[in-house]
Amino acid sequence: MSFWLTLVDLFLPRRCVVCGAELTSSERDLCNVCLCRLVPVRWSSVTDNPLLRSLWDKYDVEAAGSSLYYHSYSEYHKLFIAIKYQGCPQLGTKLAVLTFPIWYSMGLGVGVDAVIPIPLSWKRRLSRGYNQAEWIAKGVSKVIHVPVCTDILVRKKNNSTQTHKGAHERWNNTYGIFAVKKRQIDLNDKVVLLVDDIMTTGATLCDAIRALREAFPRVRLQVYTLGWSGDG
Ligand SMILES: [Zn+2]
Repeated sequence: MSFWLTLVDLFLPRRCVVCGAELTSSERDLCNVCLCRLVPVRWSSVTDNPLLRSLWDKYDVEAAGSSLYYHSYSEYHKLFIAIKYQGCPQLGTKLAVLTFPIWYSMGLGVGVDAVIPIPLSWKRRLSRGYNQAEWIAKGVSKVIHVPVCTDILVRKKNNSTQTHKGAHERWNNTYGIFAVKKRQIDLNDKVVLLVDDIMTTGATLCDAIRALREAFPRVRLQVYTLGWSGDG
């Protein structure tokens, strides 16, 4: 920790995004107590789990995993708010680096040719200043040593906020929002790992899969999200 950051801490103490406790000079975003209390998603397989089953009836995805529970009643939902809206995308990278190795050891990310984060529309990216999925993908990339590709999938429009919509509305709200940019790269027969921040209904992910499959009918897909909003 540099002298200047220590000095800034004296006057403007940094606080844990979950419990609000003052952070020590060696902590960033999350205090060590909250870090140790993280409850990881513990599915026993990357080829048969709740995330994968929620996608099976729509698209053929080979493997999937999710690291942390996202429930609004848990204090830990603040992690995702901080990563997504409060300028702490580096926390997404850190949590992916910490948690993805368990999935990697089970086969997720193995043999992958490209890591593709779910993109934001250019307008939302401009207003937010970053794409949180991209920062989570950076963490995955550090673990599996495969580059993050942000120039293949594009979000043509923003779906309006999904928060207060039912499952059916979410599907209608997301159909056709993604497209594939100039096809300089042929992803047929390649393995792509799609990365997003939170899996809720899967509507957004499925439209990204639809766009990739339309452009590359033989692309092989895996999915990873940092957060899982289901119970399983
Ligand atoms: Zn804390």
